[in-house]
Amino acid sequence: MSVPYSIKDQKSEFSQNLMVSTAGSGPASSKIPIIAEHYVSERARKTLDIVEKFVEEECIPADAVFHQQLGEGTAHRFSTHPKIMDELKEKAKKLGLWNLFLAKGHFKEGAGFSNLEYGLMAEYLGKSRTASEATNCAAPDTGNMEVLAKYGTEEQKKQWLAPLLAGEIRSAFLMTEPDVASSDATNITLRMRKEGNDWVLNGSKWWSSGSGDPRCKIYIVMGKSDPENKSVYKQQSVILVPADTPGITIHRMLSVYGYDDAPHGHGHISFDNVRVPDTCMVLGAGRGFEVIQGRLGPGRIHHAMRSIGAAERALEFFLARINDPRKTPFGEQLHKHGIMLERVARSRIEIDAARLVVLNAAIKIDQTNAKGALKEIAEAKVLVPTMALTVIDRAVQAFGGAGVCQDTPLANMWAQGRTMRIVDGPDEVHLMQLGRNENKRGVGLKERIDWQTKKTAEIFKQYGVERPDPLALNRVSGKAKL
Ligand SMILES: Cc1cc2nc3c(=O)[nH]c(=O)nc-3n(C[C@H](O)[C@H](O)[C@H](O)COP(=O)(O)OP(=O)(O)OC[C@H]3O[C@@H](n4cnc5c(N)ncnc54)[C@H](O)[C@@H]3O)c2cc1C
Repeated sequence: MSVPYSIKDQKSEFSQNLMVSTAGSGPASSKIPIIAEHYVSERARKTLDIVEKFVEEECIPADAVFHQQLGEGTAHRFSTHPKIMDELKEKAKKLGLWNLFLAKGHFKEGAGFSNLEYGLMAEYLGKSRTASEATNCAAPDTGNMEVLAKYGTEEQKKQWLAPLLAGEIRSAFLMTEPDVASSDATNITLRMRKEGNDWVLNGSKWWSSGSGDPRCKIYIVMGKSDPENKSVYKQQSVILVPADTPGITIHRMLSVYGYDDAPHGHGHISFDNVRVPDTCMVLGAGRGFEVIQGRLGPGRIHHAMRSIGAAERALEFFLARINDPRKTPFGEQLHKHGIMLERVARSRIEIDAARLVVLNAAIKIDQTNAKGALKEIAEAKVLVPTMALTVIDRAVQAFGGAGVCQDTPLANMWAQGRTMRIVDGPDEVHLMQLGRNENKRGVGLKERIDWQTKKTAEIFKQYGVERPDPLALNRVSGKAKL
């Protein structure tokens, strides 16, 4: 399969410095953390600077226009997509900023960057509402393209992956259901029944992100194909369902803290005897868990790095606000009030620390694979959204009333950020897994600490110091005197 656009198409004149203020710091490539620098190629550094310039000078100024154009000239906000997006996509293609997310070594279809290199770029994409889609790096298409590239048949790739890679259509991933706790995917109930050479689907899904967009042509659906299988991990399958298949009804779009996220949207959808041929099955019946596990690893890093970008943008707004000469509560600009500078400092520390955790996970994926980096991915997945929400909240506070209304992107960023603690597995699921694994060291550590305590007592003895052995004392039910 050919690569629709390649980084070789970059226009060299665009790789010049930022036209807008660099705000006292150098280009993106000069800010790569030292521990990551060694792993970043020259080509990725150049592209990173182009991504930064594209986001700062093209996408961020276009964000408000995108919102303004939603549903323009049509009955409602989900009827069409803003024209400005097509213009941004053309610009991004010309710059070679296209399909940056498909990691080299794993996929031949992408722009050939590592997870670390794309992670650095995703941070900048996360600063703007329009940047990820403009570069064909928006969820859920990214994860869906990975599924098709990794597990799709040649026919499935031709029919769905090629137009997705070209940015001609969009897609949705349908796993979550309204009637069951979907953070545990063994609960998924949408029934897939084999009839001759077809699969017939019945059930309902919600939070089907992207299904509101008229360009969304394909659903990747998880359902139960073998409820009697002894292994709960082999009862599920993942199947491709064209969005216009008879029997599919989109009932409504769910809102996120009141935001409709148009034209993308989050659909509540039912399946009533929806029939698709066996050739739509991904990887094979009963292999749904393999598919969803293969889908989620790098995607979590992409989300995390975009959240780092959102936190950086919130800090930029925060700094701009506390230096606004028009606003002088109690006779001083806000940066003269010490508490604000402390919040700035804490935000700087927390963003920088969280970035290192995400980049570490990206390096680990590059050096092993998503499975080999489970711990690091989970750490980033839990840490980053909470950090980003704290930083965004500090910026909101500094803006006062303006912070919670539509005059800055902060309120929307907070709403988006809050969902990150729920999507792709709620915090608790990752914490439980991390806690369990960490706890496996507990028994060995108890033995080591006991041994060290005993040895300390022996050393004291050699020096002629009589010191009660705390281990022995504990055994005498804690009544001993020390
Ligand atoms: C904006 C947004 C976009 C989304 N996009 C998609 C999408 O495109 N496709 C899709 O399929 N889904 C999507 N989702 C759904 C999301 O993945 C699920 O909401 C998530 O997996 C949680 O499942 P649930 O809502 O069924 O909650 P439940 O599974 O019912 O969990 C509810 C809560 O229970 C608690 N909990 C769960 N497990 C544990 C545990 N082990 N220990 C302690 N507490 C626990 C957590 O606090 C959790 O939040 C999206 C959700 C949102 C908000």
